[in-house]
Amino acid sequence: MRQNTKCIQAGYEPKNGESRMIPIIQSTTFKYDTSEDMGKLFDLEASGYFYTRLQNPTNDYVAAKICALEGGSAAMLTSSGQAANMFAVFNVANAGDHVVCSSTIYGGTYNLFNVTMRKMGLDFTFLDPDCSIEELNAAFKPNTKAVFGETIANPGLNVFDIETWANVAHEHGVPLIVDNTFATPINCRPIEWGCDIVTHSTTKYMDGHDATVGGCIVDSGKFDWMAHADKFPGLTTPDESYHGITYAEKFGMEGAFITKCTAQLMRDFGCIQAPMNAYFLNLGLESLHVRMPRHCENAMKVAQFLEAHEKVTWVNYPGLESNKYYQRAKKYMPNGTCGVVSFGIKGGREAAEVFMANLHVAMIATHVADAHTCVLHPASSTHRQMNDEELIAAGAGPDLIRFSVGIEDVDDIIEDIAQALDKA
Ligand code: PLP
Repeated sequence: MRQNTKCIQAGYEPKNGESRMIPIIQSTTFKYDTSEDMGKLFDLEASGYFYTRLQNPTNDYVAAKICALEGGSAAMLTSSGQAANMFAVFNVANAGDHVVCSSTIYGGTYNLFNVTMRKMGLDFTFLDPDCSIEELNAAFKPNTKAVFGETIANPGLNVFDIETWANVAHEHGVPLIVDNTFATPINCRPIEWGCDIVTHSTTKYMDGHDATVGGCIVDSGKFDWMAHADKFPGLTTPDESYHGITYAEKFGMEGAFITKCTAQLMRDFGCIQAPMNAYFLNLGLESLHVRMPRHCENAMKVAQFLEAHEKVTWVNYPGLESNKYYQRAKKYMPNGTCGVVSFGIKGGREAAEVFMANLHVAMIATHVADAHTCVLHPASSTHRQMNDEELIAAGAGPDLIRFSVGIEDVDDIIEDIAQALDKA
């Protein structure tokens, strides 16, 4: 199947007389004829379902679709993008371990790593994603277990050099994890560039309709855990909580990562996506291939309009030829990047607030990447506790407006921006 067909059909194949849409298995539990049958599931001797805190068939249909779209070997849904990134890292790195990470990742992920996961005993080194190879190499320690970055960073829109970071990660014997939320597999497939694990906040373009919070982890199946057995004992030595199973031996390169993540982390943390949400996510996925090109087309026109406007001081959109990431974006995302544009206007913070208050089509919302155009002025909302200096250090200066271009008629979006700029 090509990507467009996978969006509609991958992951679920109804048999004779079965429903065309994926069934919503809204059940906590599953019935078995004998305790022995169920025992085999607990021992991971047979595959099947016993409790929705760990796995659910509806979720697995949808995970299989995303897996096919990313070109992976196995996948799982999580309750949110935060849970996906937490699990992806914690599945390979424990207390005492270290992770090399791009510094421009989404603020929520940065906080998860730098505050909460540090409390869990993990150590992180955050690096400018455009650092030299020497600087990148120098960040590795003997206890480094993974490397992490975002295909397109939120909100800086930095385009990540996946191939280079993957090569360096592999030279150090560790996997590269890439959060592919903004690009989606319609615009970029990180596994083709050497990435080992892909994560998503499916809350964004995949759901696409502002309807459900969710996440996904996809394993490429290409990282050879056994070749680096000493670094990853959780995958390469017996798990006593599962009767001595060694994941990498029993499930191979293709299945070890997701099986361990399900059997240990989902079992213990229970960050599962509700089957009903997975159903909604699937509806979103069915039009992802149609929506993404429209998001990109609209965003490009908005970015070009802004670039030519006398009240706009700067525009950041990787699809613009003037953008520092234009060439890299062409390499990794030849068909378009995403629908998010950021820009500044003359008059700084005050003008930005007036501009925002006068928008009608674009809604003020703490969100990006869905069908409805939405806008956020971090300095007066999410980052309002910071002074101007702190805002600049956080990469969200007082004039920065983050504009997520939806799939409405682009002329309405541009007219809306134009009249609000007139008043600012
Ligand atoms: N990754 C990226 C790139 C994001 O933009 C977000 C949320 O904005 C997340 C992860 C976290 O996802 P969620 O809000 O679904 O937990």
